[in-house]
Amino acid sequence: MEPELGVATAAPLGPGAPVVAIDVGGTTIKAAALTSDGRLSEPLRVPTPVRGPDSAERVLDVVGQLVGELSATPADAPRAVGLALPGIFDDETGVGHWSENLGWKGVDFSALTARRFALPVALRHDVRAAAYAERRLGAARDAATALVVLIGTGVSAALFIGETTHVARGYAGEIGHAVVVPGGEKCLCGNRGCLEATASAAAVVRRYERLTGAVVPGASAVLALADSGDTAAGQIWESALDALAFGLAHAISLVAPDVIVLGGGVAEAGDTLIRPLQARLEELVRIQPVPRLTRAHFGQDAGLYGSALAARDLLGSEAGA
Ligand SMILES: [Zn+2]
Repeated sequence: MEPELGVATAAPLGPGAPVVAIDVGGTTIKAAALTSDGRLSEPLRVPTPVRGPDSAERVLDVVGQLVGELSATPADAPRAVGLALPGIFDDETGVGHWSENLGWKGVDFSALTARRFALPVALRHDVRAAAYAERRLGAARDAATALVVLIGTGVSAALFIGETTHVARGYAGEIGHAVVVPGGEKCLCGNRGCLEATASAAAVVRRYERLTGAVVPGASAVLALADSGDTAAGQIWESALDALAFGLAHAISLVAPDVIVLGGGVAEAGDTLIRPLQARLEELVRIQPVPRLTRAHFGQDAGLYGSALAARDLLGSEAGA
C-alpha cells in the first residue's frame, strides 16, 4: 500500500503570479489568496446565496466581494481569479448547463465574468478543479492516465489523459450516476441504484439511519460503528464498498488508468477504504492490471488549489510556475 501523503498545508504551489481562488459549493463559498511565493491564505467562508432565478448573479456578487477583500494587500495584488463552479459545467466554454443546488440553467459564466470583473477569470468545474491540483502537484502527478474520484456528499470523477482533462462539454465524470445496483436506492437524479445513491457519504448515513432508526452525525460515524462490530453499520459499509468497486471496475475496463486517486470526505477513511476496495478490484478486474489506489494529497481545499493553478495558467508562462 502507498504511504499516506497527508494533507498539503505549506507552500506546495511554488512562486508565480498572485491570484485569488474561489470554490462555490452548494452551501458554502470558499475563497483564498495565493501569494507570489506560493502560499494559500486561510480560506474565507461565506454562505452560498439561496437558490433562485438570479442565483448566478448573486453568486457572482459574493465572488466580487471576496475578490475585493482578498485584494487588500497592494504589494501582492491578484492578477487573475480562479473560480470553481458546481453542477454540469463546461470548462471549455464557461457555460454552466445546470446546477441542481444553485438552481441555474444555461448560464454563460464566461460572458458574465468578463463583463463584471476587471481581472481575467479561469472557470472550472469544481471536481475538475480539485482533481487538477492532484494531477499537477498531488497524488496523480506522475501518472500518464489518471482517474480522480471524489466521494463526498455525491460521487464524481475527473479523467486525465496525459495533460488533458476530459471535459465532454461538461458531461464527463458523472460516475456517481452509473447504475451499480439495478432497481436499488432512489437517486436525486430520478434513477435507481446509482453509485452515488448507494455509496456517497450522504447515502451511507441515510441508509444506516433508515435501517436502524438511529441518528448519526456523518459517514465516519457509520464507519467507526462498523469497525466496532455493529452489524448494521458493517452491512451498509460493505455494500458501499461493493458499489464503489463495481463503478471503478467499469472505469478501469474502459480507460485502464495508471492510478485512481480517491478524495472527498469518505476517502479520509484512508486504508479502511482503500484496502478492501483494492481487494475487490483484484477479484473483479482480471485481464488488466488493477491500478494503484491512493488517497488524495490535497484535502478539503483541493478545489481552491486547483482553481489557483488554473488562474496562474491563464496568465501564461510569464507568470512563472
Ligand atoms: Zn443518479
